[in-house]
Amino acid sequence: MRLRNVKGSRETIAVSQFVIQDEESMKGKWREKFGNDNPIHIEIGMGKGKFIIQLAKENPNINYIGVEKFSSVLVRAIEKQTEEQLPNLFFIRMEAEYIGNVFDKGEVDYIYLNFSDPWPKDRHAKRRLTSVQFLERYEEILAEGGGITFKTDNRPLFDFSLEQIDEAGWIKDNVTFDLHNSPYVEGNVMTEYEQKFSEMGNPIYRVVFHPNKK
Ligand code: SAH
Repeated sequence: MRLRNVKGSRETIAVSQFVIQDEESMKGKWREKFGNDNPIHIEIGMGKGKFIIQLAKENPNINYIGVEKFSSVLVRAIEKQTEEQLPNLFFIRMEAEYIGNVFDKGEVDYIYLNFSDPWPKDRHAKRRLTSVQFLERYEEILAEGGGITFKTDNRPLFDFSLEQIDEAGWIKDNVTFDLHNSPYVEGNVMTEYEQKFSEMGNPIYRVVFHPNKK
């Protein structure tokens, strides 16, 4: 995402009813917040929110939470949600590393990672959202039967992610190196980056996986 300082974005976030202001106080209380026992799905690094807003519209019986660290893009998602007023969608502005402070053990049913930052330098590998360090954090918060879908057009990041999934002992349900020309494309909801990069002719890689809980 472009690191543009959108004027007033911090102020917009601070007063939005769709942004959880004190996210750590919500740990273990998300179902209360939504007022029902529906499953909770989160997208980490949601950017301007195109994907999660569409999912929330299409699936009123699933609760969605979008996590994004940058105000400048989060504010775009807030603008759309202010028009839509979807009761099953909230946002958090935070660094994903601390996700375990915000969700209790087993509180999250599904995680989406879409076009996560590649962090190409080896010394930054731990910051990649599909590193074993992050997978351990996700395993803590995922409910039994939960899983993750990861999409990217970045081949080195995808290859790294497949290795990390194996290293963490997680199970791959399916892998495709060309999502848009595979049977898995049915029902695929495009993200903003996915649209942009597939229009440029890049293949989209996708893996669906889950922890090996005994
Ligand atoms: N998912 C969107 C945006 C992809 S760009 C899409 O597919 O179109 C990646 C986004 O993830 C950026 O907005 C970036 O700010 C956010 N992000 C990257 N690392 C993050 C982290 N550690 N915590 C929270 N957000 C993160």
